[in-house]
Amino acid sequence: MSSSLTFYECKHCSATGTCTNGENQAACRACARLNELPFWRRSGQVGLVCGCCRGLGKAELFTDRLNKRMAPVLAVLLVFCVLTLIMVTSIFNHQHFSEILAFGSAIIGTVTGFYFSTNKNDL
Ligand SMILES: [Zn+2]
Ligand SMILES: [Zn+2]
Repeated sequence: MSSSLTFYECKHCSATGTCTNGENQAACRACARLNELPFWRRSGQVGLVCGCCRGLGKAELFTDRLNKRMAPVLAVLLVFCVLTLIMVTSIFNHQHFSEILAFGSAIIGTVTGFYFSTNKNDL
């Protein structure tokens, strides 16, 4: 079962894929909202797809989801920090400016190359 290591059984729907957390085994309002039902139909819906796992019964680990969301943010922050570092060193005519510029452009090239290549694969 090594392939399912990154998934856990959804606690919200007890791995059934159907939300029964509302009244009388109906879907809860959060899942009704995720199923894009208008607010006047959100209560008492039975058999709605679980909004936490999208009906799979298994959900991704929270840390995995966090990593997927954090990675682009960290990449942008890293590029921003490197650009700031390059700007500061160029303004103050720092003695290591050329090294920092080479190092920084290598990092930026890696980061942007990684994200452009993954975006192309998704399309
Ligand atoms: Zn629910
Ligand atoms: Zn679920």
